Amino acid sequence: MRLKSWGNYPHVEGENYPVVSDDDLTDVLTQKTSLIVQGNNRSYGDSAFAQTVIDMKARDHFLDFDTKKGILELQAGALISDVLESIVPKGWILPVLPGTQLITIGGAIASDIHGKNHHNVGTFCQFVKSLRLMLSNGEIIKCSNTENVQAFRATCAGMGLTGIILDATIQLAPISSNRIKQTSHKTKNLKHTFEIFNENNDSSYSVAWIDCLAKDQELGKSVVMLGEHETEGELEYKYKSRHKMPFYLPSFVLNSWSIRLFNWLYYFKTKKKSQSVQLQSFFFPLDSIVDWNKMYGKSGFVQYQCVIPLEHSYEGIKALLNKISDSKQGSFLAVLKRMGCANDNLLSFPMEGYSLALDFKVNKKTLELLDTLDEIVKQYNGRLYLCKDARMSEDTLNHGYKNAEKFRKFRQDTESNKTFNSYQSTRLKL
Ligand SMILES: Cc1cc2nc3c(=O)[nH]c(=O)nc-3n(C[C@H](O)[C@H](O)[C@H](O)COP(=O)(O)OP(=O)(O)OC[C@H]3O[C@@H](n4cnc5c(N)ncnc54)[C@H](O)[C@@H]3O)c2cc1C
Repeated sequence: MRLKSWGNYPHVEGENYPVVSDDDLTDVLTQKTSLIVQGNNRSYGDSAFAQTVIDMKARDHFLDFDTKKGILELQAGALISDVLESIVPKGWILPVLPGTQLITIGGAIASDIHGKNHHNVGTFCQFVKSLRLMLSNGEIIKCSNTENVQAFRATCAGMGLTGIILDATIQLAPISSNRIKQTSHKTKNLKHTFEIFNENNDSSYSVAWIDCLAKDQELGKSVVMLGEHETEGELEYKYKSRHKMPFYLPSFVLNSWSIRLFNWLYYFKTKKKSQSVQLQSFFFPLDSIVDWNKMYGKSGFVQYQCVIPLEHSYEGIKALLNKISDSKQGSFLAVLKRMGCANDNLLSFPMEGYSLALDFKVNKKTLELLDTLDEIVKQYNGRLYLCKDARMSEDTLNHGYKNAEKFRKFRQDTESNKTFNSYQSTRLKL
């Protein structure tokens, strides 16, 4: 069967096994090798694909919710959208939210996801009090910062390569409104963008949409959005999608001219400096269009997300933007984020600095451009995000992830490398 990731690239073959019970899981483990767990398939490349894919979505039950302390225990297949619909009305929110609510808790842990508040609070796994992991021999262990610590550090950001996350206990954050006060700053160029981030480093949330086709004096021109939870208001929450992309757009529709036009409109339509917006429109603007990934056409797209350490962030991001704008292969979505300190999870992506994320339609020219961007990222000691990756080389991984060898050793020692292997882990010799 042909398997498709969110980016619809690369195309790979495999079989899908939906699982419900622990027995279903042990059955697959005894019958198959070269398998990987899949959440809601929102990673862009080949990290959730193997010859055998274990589909965890039916394991989505809530196990316990302490509404006084904000501690939630739930199965790994639960979607963030379902979690928010249950916890927001009780005055709680997940402390770290990605750019889509359509991912599972297992996927959030396996990628150790970050949000628009990484500079303040860190990653998703920093709020995971404990998790239960099924190893390749079917044994189930509990891991946390104090119990089976090595397994915890390898599993958080471990891309499903250490075992199957069955369930997790998560510390939530209190809120008293379902709205965010959003403040937008239009910037003139990259220097100005960095200034706004620096001046607002204590803002709870910050993110910039960046015009990656802007050049020369305007290179790095952005709209920086800051956010704070409103302190009073309603607590209703319902996932809403307004539109659906009905079919794949022909690939010529997205070109440097249409992207330029979109960027121009986006920059100029941003007028109001401060406004109160719903949680969904602040955190998950893309979720209002179902299947927006079809916009990139049938040959798919790749997301390129890198982080450059703080001491080189400005020059590194400038070099990347110069290369992209010169290539005229603009990205429709280009997002800059300020990141806080790295954590101890072996393959966790964030490090103190700035992260740039860009979407590119796949073609030969783009893939060549991305190889050039890799060299810039390496030159500035940055790294690429595994859950967005579909094509990086082993050398690029090793250069950016100093704990990659420790991770490989953990896999060998626990023999998880004999069972759990994705197309990505095979490519990267993880
Ligand atoms: C529109 C969009 C915006 C995004 N924004 C952000 C963002 O702001 N910040 C960010 O950090 N990420 C972001 N992402 C990436 C996304 O959060 C990750 O790719 C996430 O891992 C996807 O979760 P999933 O449930 O779809 O997992 P999948 O894509 O199915 O799997 C991802 C990885 O998790 C592993 N995995 C899944 N479930 C389990 C389990 N139960 N046990 C063990 N391993 C498991 C898989 O093996 C795989 O390696 C975004 C993605 C999209 C599409």
